[in-house]
Amino acid sequence: MRKFKTESKKLLDLMINSIYTNKEIFLRELISNASDAVDKLNFKSLTDESMHVDQADLAIRVSFDRDARTITVSDNGIGMTAEELERNLGTIAHSGSEEFKTENAESQGDALDIIGQFGVGFYSAFMVAKRVRVVSRAFGEDEAHVWESDGLEGYTIEPGERAEHGTDVILTLRENVPGENGEEGENYDRYLSEWGLKDLIRRYSNYVRYPIQMMVMKSRQKPKPEDAGDNYKPEYEDYEELETINSMTPIWKKRREDVEDADYNEFYKSTFHDFEDPARTISFHAEGALEYDALLFIPGRAPFDLYSKDYEKGLALYSSNVMIMEKCADLLPDYYNFVRGVVDSADVSLNISRETLQQNRQLRAIARRIEKRVTSDLEDMRDNAREAYERFFENFGRGLKYGIYASYGAKATELADLLLFWSAKEQKMITLAEYAKAMPEGQKAIYFAAGDDRDRLSKMPVVTGVLARGFDVLLCTQDVDEFTFQSMREYVARDMPKVYEDDAAREAAEKAVADGAEPELEDRHLELKNVATGDLDLASEDEKKEAEEASKEHADLFSAMKEALGDHVQKVSVSSRLVSADDAPACITTEGPLSLEMEKVLKRGPEGDVEGMPTAQRVLELNAKSPVFAKLAAAQEAGDADKVKLYTGLLYDQALLVEGILPEDPVAFAKNVCELM
Ligand code: ADP
Ligand code: MG
Repeated sequence: MRKFKTESKKLLDLMINSIYTNKEIFLRELISNASDAVDKLNFKSLTDESMHVDQADLAIRVSFDRDARTITVSDNGIGMTAEELERNLGTIAHSGSEEFKTENAESQGDALDIIGQFGVGFYSAFMVAKRVRVVSRAFGEDEAHVWESDGLEGYTIEPGERAEHGTDVILTLRENVPGENGEEGENYDRYLSEWGLKDLIRRYSNYVRYPIQMMVMKSRQKPKPEDAGDNYKPEYEDYEELETINSMTPIWKKRREDVEDADYNEFYKSTFHDFEDPARTISFHAEGALEYDALLFIPGRAPFDLYSKDYEKGLALYSSNVMIMEKCADLLPDYYNFVRGVVDSADVSLNISRETLQQNRQLRAIARRIEKRVTSDLEDMRDNAREAYERFFENFGRGLKYGIYASYGAKATELADLLLFWSAKEQKMITLAEYAKAMPEGQKAIYFAAGDDRDRLSKMPVVTGVLARGFDVLLCTQDVDEFTFQSMREYVARDMPKVYEDDAAREAAEKAVADGAEPELEDRHLELKNVATGDLDLASEDEKKEAEEASKEHADLFSAMKEALGDHVQKVSVSSRLVSADDAPACITTEGPLSLEMEKVLKRGPEGDVEGMPTAQRVLELNAKSPVFAKLAAAQEAGDADKVKLYTGLLYDQALLVEGILPEDPVAFAKNVCELM
C-alpha cells in the first residue's frame, strides 16, 4: 500500500471532517470531475484530427446498487494512466485539471470549460464513502488501472480491466448512524435511491454541459393479448430506460435576444418556486477583469415570509455551470432582498471550501454591479411602466424605505427617487421629484402627514390647512414612512428652476430667457416636514400679526387653558395652520423630534407602552377665527372658570380623536359631551 503524504493526510482529515458542511456535495464534485474528463477528451479531439471521438457519445453516467451499497459515477472521458492516478489522486491538493488548463491556456478559447482547480473535490467522496475504487483507462492506452482507498492511511494501484477509455468512481457508502441524545444521525441510504440521486443531480449539476444519464425504472402497460376476453384487465410491467437527468444549457449563458420571455418566466417559476411570472427579468454579461453572467428577477409578488426574520435573501452562485451556493447573501443589499436569480462566474475564486465561500473582493465587485443594475431597471420601470412599478412598490417599497432608515439616511441618494407616496392633491402615487416639480413658486419644503388611514389623514385640519394654501401633502400610511423622512432630513430636487433672491438678478435672467437662453436650473434642498409638527412657517406677515395680537389679547385665556390641561400639553397657542372660520376649532401638533404618529408606532413596537417611553410634546393650537373660540373667550370674560375648563377638556379630547388617539378618560369625555347637550 502506498501511504498518503503526511500533509495530505492532515488535509484529508480536515476535508472530511470540517471543511465541507454539507455532505451531499460529493456527487457534485464527482460529476464535475467526470465533466472535466469528458471536456478534456473533447478538447483534444477538436485540436487533434487523428483522434476519432463522436461528440454525441460523450456522457456521464450515475448508477447505484442498493444491496452492495455502492454509487458509481462513470464517464467516457480522457481517463487516467497509472502515473496519473498516482499523481492526481494520491496527492491531495494536486489538480490535474488546473494543470491541463494552464498547459492549454493559449489554444483553449471557448472550447474548454474546466471546473476543477483545487485538487480537493475528489476527496469529498470520503464524507459518505468508507471505500472508494477508481477504475480508469486513459485514452489511447490498452491497459486500465484500479486505484483504491479507505481514505485513512493510503491507497493501492493495481492493473485492472475496462472495456473503453474513461473512468468509473465507485463509492461504497458508510453505514447509517442512528440519531442519539437529540442529535441527528446520518442517513447515507438516502443516496441509494433513484429520486435521491436525481434530486442531487438537478440541484447541483443541472447545467453541466454533458448529459448526466441514469437508468431509471419505468412502468408500462403490456400489450393486450389477442385472445383477451371481455374481462381483460390491463397488465403492467416495469422496465428500465436510460434517461438524461440534467437540462444542460444554462439559460443565463444565452444571449437575451435568443431567449423567449416565456422561457425566462418558466425558468424563474420552476427554479424559485413561484406561480406568478416575474415583474421584470434582468440579464447581463460582464466582461473585463471579472467575467460573469447574471440573470436576475424581480418577483411579481412578495413571498409571504419576506418581512419575517426567517426570510433568506441571496442569489444562486454558480461557477462554470456548477452550483456553489444556493443563496449567496453577499450578492444583494438588504433593501434588494426580494431579487432572485443566478450569478455564474468561472473567475470567482473559491477558497478551499466551496461551502464557506467568504466575502471577497470579487464578490463585492459583482454585488456592486448588480445593485446598480437593479436600481437602473427599477428607475426604468418607474419612468416607462408606471403601473407595473406601482405594483412592485406595493410589494417591496417598504423594504426600500427601510433601507434608507437603516442606513441613517446614507442610502437616500440611491433610493429616495425610487419611493412613491400618495399625493393628497393628485390623488395618486407620486415620486418626490414629481412632488418638487409641481410645487408652486415660494414653496420651500415637502409636506407630509403620517397616520394609518389615508382617508382620515386627508380630513385632518393640519392637512386641509396646508392644502388650502395650495401646497400638496403626501399622505404616509406605513409605520416606516416618518422614520425614513426623519433619517433623510431633506430631499435634493435636481434641475429645479432657479430662484432669484434679488429682483435685479431675476429680471436679468428673465430677459436672457426671453432672448433665447435656456432657463437656469439648480438643485434645491427641500426639508421634509410633517404638517403636524413644529412651526411650518406658512403664515403671511398679516396672519402672523393677527395671531400675535390674538395671543396678547387672550393671554389670560391661554394660561387658564394650559392650567386646565396640565402636563398633557406643552402649551396652548393660536394656530397659524387653522386660519379661517370654516377650519376646525383646534388641533394637536407637536414640538421636537417625536410626532404623535411616531409615538404611536413606538408604543406598538416590541418595547410596548412602558413607563419612561419618550412621548411627543403636544401643543393645543386654537383657531382664533372659529365660533368656538369666541365662546371660550366669552366664558373667560364672564369669569366662568368651570366652563372654560369644560370646553378646554372637550377641545383637547376631540382634537386627539381626530388624530386617531382615544381620549385618556373616554367616560369623562362622553359625560362632558352629554352635559353640553
Ligand atoms: P480538481 O477537480 O479541483 O482538479 P479533484 O480532487 O476533484 O480536484 O480531482 C483531482 C484530479 O484528479 C483532477 O484534477 C483530475 O486530474 C483527476 N481526476 C479526478 N476525477 C477524474 C476523472 N473522472 N477522470 C479523469 N481524471 C480525473
Ligand atoms: Mg474536482
